[in-house]
Amino acid sequence: MTEWLKAAQSQEKDYLNDLISLMKIPSVRDDDAATDEYPLGPRPAQALKAFLEMADQDGFKTKNIDNLVGYAECGEGDETLAILAHLDVMPAGKGWDTDPFDPVIKDGNLYGRGASDDKGPGMAAYYALKYLKDQGIKFNKRVRFIVGTDEESNWTGMHRYFEVEPAPTLGFSPDAEFPVINGEKGQVSLLLSVLGTNEGDYQLKSFAAGLRFNMVPREAVAEVIVKDRQQVQSDFARFLDNNPVSGTAEETAEGLKLTVIGKAAHGMEPEKGINAGTYLANFLDQYEFKAGAQSFIHFLGKYLHLNTRMDSFDGAFTDPVMGELTMNAGILNFTTAKGGDINMNFRFPKGLTPDDLEAVVKRVADPLGIAVKQGPAQAPHYVDPDDPIVKTLMAAYVHQTGDQNAQPEVVGGGTYGRLMKRGVAFGALMPNTPNTMHQANEFQPVADLIKSMAIYMEAINNLVTD
Ligand SMILES: [Zn+2]
Repeated sequence: MTEWLKAAQSQEKDYLNDLISLMKIPSVRDDDAATDEYPLGPRPAQALKAFLEMADQDGFKTKNIDNLVGYAECGEGDETLAILAHLDVMPAGKGWDTDPFDPVIKDGNLYGRGASDDKGPGMAAYYALKYLKDQGIKFNKRVRFIVGTDEESNWTGMHRYFEVEPAPTLGFSPDAEFPVINGEKGQVSLLLSVLGTNEGDYQLKSFAAGLRFNMVPREAVAEVIVKDRQQVQSDFARFLDNNPVSGTAEETAEGLKLTVIGKAAHGMEPEKGINAGTYLANFLDQYEFKAGAQSFIHFLGKYLHLNTRMDSFDGAFTDPVMGELTMNAGILNFTTAKGGDINMNFRFPKGLTPDDLEAVVKRVADPLGIAVKQGPAQAPHYVDPDDPIVKTLMAAYVHQTGDQNAQPEVVGGGTYGRLMKRGVAFGALMPNTPNTMHQANEFQPVADLIKSMAIYMEAINNLVTD
């Protein structure tokens, strides 16, 4: 057992007390309750205030910036090391076995909203910093522990910080997984639209799949008029037998209502889901739809179907360091009144730009009469693995876990790490612990949290005394 782990264990009781008191605040951003004083609603600000009071009592210099973001500071030097965490949480959602805002420890696991995202890891990093400060270690850098209050939505708070405070020299965000994430792909959505027109025997009245651009649609529903209902129903039954989806076909006054169920997944790993929308379009593409309806169905069923790497557009791309371009077809809607809307969400490595992606999609979309425009984009972010911030954090992780094979990773995005030129994400999900962030029964093993604290102690110590 290392000295750092012993030190972290000595903090366990106080750490859990402070953590649990913060987890009891349901700090979900609430725009309906927003006021001039509390632009994100009162609850995120309540968590911020509670944290800053703790830090104040612990002897840090603290500041609350507009009830949006705040920090606890210690140490002195020309350079600033920043640790970026967040105090807001996702809404609880359904399906919990315990009260999401009354944390419990069961079988060594801490259950409750924020246990793993991000109050648990954030407070582990805070306790690591506090321990080093209390030991009287001489810091050669200023350290700011900065907490945002709307990481799960627009980053208003953290953006405000970077507008009004000097940029830190380097830093990390304990809001992802171990080991170090030193690269995040860029992100952009292309927004496609097509007329809601129909002609002939086969007509698409409506099509709906997906609610969010960053999720693979689990369910798709289409209302269609067809030439022969029975034929289509039997074709559909066979299609369901031959594909990894389930579904139903119901007769309606005008025709049929077809429902397909696939599997949801995060939009940064679209290959892990089963896109119900493109499966349903792939089924419909065998019939003679016409006009805008035909373009919509054909584009989804032929070009977007089973095509998360853009091969069918001749647009596949891999950067040797940052990996593959990925695409999620997250929102697929059509009505005769509003026409068709498609959101293609891309995670792209360096070497590609949103304009490149638009050109690739237009080659296919233009001839089908589908219009393409760009949504807001984020550039790729990459920190050299030889940068001391990456090397020091990796060394602390390897030393505390014994995981000699660990390598820095690139992910689809996006953590606070990308806000700093020399910024990375670091912890606190361990490689073999299930990821329950944003889900019911969110938990983190207490032993993982304490080990994370030891890793953060060693890492921060080495960064401020080098
Ligand atoms: Zn988070």
